[in-house]
Amino acid sequence: NQQIVLKNRPEGKPSENDFEIQEIETGEIKAGEILLESKYISVDPYLRGRMRDEESYIEPFKLGKPIESMIVAEIVESKNPNFSIGEHVIGMLDWKKQQIHTGEDLRKLDKSLAPLSAYLGVLGLTGVTAFLALDKIGNLKSGETLLVSGAAGAVGSIAGQIGKIKNCRVVGIAGSDEKTEHIKEKFGFDAGINYKTTANITKAIENACPDGVDVYFDNVGGEILNAALQNINKAARIICCGAISIYNSTEVPTGPRPEGILIKKSAVMQGFLVRDHIQDFQRAIEGLAGWLKSGKITYDETIIEGFENTPKAFIQLFEGRNTGKMLVKI
Ligand code: NDP
Repeated sequence: NQQIVLKNRPEGKPSENDFEIQEIETGEIKAGEILLESKYISVDPYLRGRMRDEESYIEPFKLGKPIESMIVAEIVESKNPNFSIGEHVIGMLDWKKQQIHTGEDLRKLDKSLAPLSAYLGVLGLTGVTAFLALDKIGNLKSGETLLVSGAAGAVGSIAGQIGKIKNCRVVGIAGSDEKTEHIKEKFGFDAGINYKTTANITKAIENACPDGVDVYFDNVGGEILNAALQNINKAARIICCGAISIYNSTEVPTGPRPEGILIKKSAVMQGFLVRDHIQDFQRAIEGLAGWLKSGKITYDETIIEGFENTPKAFIQLFEGRNTGKMLVKI
């Protein structure tokens, strides 16, 4: 058996040296326990925050201890009457090939409804984030303009498609021409902006959003947020969902400030944390599953094979190497 632990707290961008793969003994399961074999591991940008030794909404990872994230696992041994061999579950689990568990807080998955990996993406936390952030803060109305950053990613690609379902003009910002083309072709975005090759993003947003921006779904923060704010309409809603552009910063970034424009436009800028809305997860998953079934939404996955490549897959999020949900298949 193997596990992956945090060896060092990363300085700036994480590197593979910040992680260590260790050989471990699995041990024997006791009455009431199950043995899980990891099948798909979710790597997510927010894990970067847990690698810092600072107080947040979730405890930091401990040095020398396994990283944890959402994992889909198969039950390979069971001494718990509620779980049978061959069933699949999802939960916050350690980066281990196999692990012993009590079954508490694990949810059983139905393989016949969707592929197992989908429960970590479109029907998992990233899909639910897109759905609930728009539901709770976005309040999209037909004919409005939705601007999405990180648009080719797991959250962004679903957020954009929900915008189309709501009859909005949807504009996406992403890091390559392949991605900006892809979000138009596959996900129905009306326009795309490549932030890496566009000299003046403020102007590019203005051109792509001739009626201004009513809702900005922010996955990246930083300069792109600033450019988006220059284009908001009266009573705009700005959803602060993620800020990946500053997750590796070693100092608190400074720069242009939003208050002037928020006042001028009577706009609302609100942080969103999906874990605050657990009571709405079921509704979100049912909504997303319905759209998936009827073909109103679709999704991408970037799947890296091999347990030992989990740190690499995580690091690649910061290089934009994924479209859609980044996953590791064991
Ligand atoms: P993604 O699938 O979007 O993957 C990350 C993407 O971010 C990359 O593919 C890359 O795409 C882009 N990126 C990386 N570095 C930068 C940068 N410096 N500037 C701009 N873009 C960058 O990840 P998720 O969909 O899982 O997450 C998206 C965001 O949502 C993250 O910020 C995450 O933390 C947040 N989130 C928040 C939740 C909440 O409850 N608030 C829940 C889930 C996610 P590109 O090629 O376009 O650069």
